[in-house]
Order: sequence, then C-alpha cells, then structure tokens
Amino acid sequence: MLKKEFKRKDVDRARNLLTGKTGASSETQVGYKKKMVSYKEGDIWVENKKTWTIKDGIKQTISKMDKIKKEIFMPLCCPKCSKVMKKRLDKPNYKAHKTCFDCVIDFEHKLRIEGKYDDYIKGLRLKNNLSQIDEAEDYFLALANVSNDGYVSEHGDVERWVGGVDVDKITTDISIAAKEARENIKKELTNKED
Ligand SMILES: [Zn+2]
Repeated sequence: MLKKEFKRKDVDRARNLLTGKTGASSETQVGYKKKMVSYKEGDIWVENKKTWTIKDGIKQTISKMDKIKKEIFMPLCCPKCSKVMKKRLDKPNYKAHKTCFDCVIDFEHKLRIEGKYDDYIKGLRLKNNLSQIDEAEDYFLALANVSNDGYVSEHGDVERWVGGVDVDKITTDISIAAKEARENIKKELTNKED
C-alpha cells in the first residue's frame, strides 16, 4: 500500500530528484524564470495534492469526498435479502459487494458449486489492482506537481517554473502509464468474462 501522505522531507527529496538537484536545498529555485499557465473552464489539473477544475468561472477543488461518501453510505437493510445489516462484517462486505455478509457467503458458496469461484476471486483481485493503480497515479501526480506548488493566483492562474522539472511531461507520462496499466487489467477482466 502506498502512503497517502508524504512528509516535507520526502517532498524535498522528490523535488530534488525530479529537478536533478541531488542534495540541493529546495530554496535554490529562486532565479528561475516564471511563466503563467492559464486554465479555462472545464480544465482539470492536480496541484497541491488536490484536483482542481474551473466551473462556472470559479477555480475549485474536485472533492473526492463526494465519491467516497457515496461508497461508504450503507443502507440499514441489505438490498438483496432485506435483513438489517448490523454484523461487524456487514460493513466491509457491503462496501465491496453491495450486499450483507450472509449474502456474500451464499453467493460465494454458489460460485464454488458452479466451479466459478476461482474466476470470481481473480476478478476481485484485478478490480483491487485497478484501485491500486488509481492510488499510485494520484500519488505520483501529486509528487510531480509538488515541485510547482505555491504559486497559484486567486484567478485560476498558476505561475510555473520554467526550467528544471517539466511537470507537464511528467504528468502526461504518469497518466499514460496508469492508463496502460488500467487497460491491461480491463483486458484481462473482459477475457475472463468471455
Ligand atoms: Zn443480504
């Protein structure tokens, strides 16, 4: 599992790695020329570990909370068997399968009888890999963009350092790598279901 947070020290080290300044202080960026990058309506970019967009002309973060809230929200009763979900294992199972724990046990038992259990486990593993790729992508995008932090105007403009790290290229490379990894897993998932 990747760490969700990284310490100032790690950030400095990563910044120095990215800029090729091993051992250099992070303050030595003074003297680089700056250029302005303007973002327009609908653009999405990562900055200061947050994903930003411009909506209705206002720069704002895209909150992952909306997504997370939906995922954690658990109804009182299991949508499949209508029993009240109050067991300790109901919550993690609802998160993963959208049914109560008993329904998951029944479902997996049926799969075993039908000889489909191994494929099912493989599918779960692949889906888990997908979310790990998402996490890794977020982590590396945040790291790459850390080297450009702190120079954001209130109007959605970002002052970017010219020279040193090519954040746009790194960001693109990371996104491409993550996309390829995701596509490979999705391919495997589809083959499995053939
Ligand atoms: Zn149930």
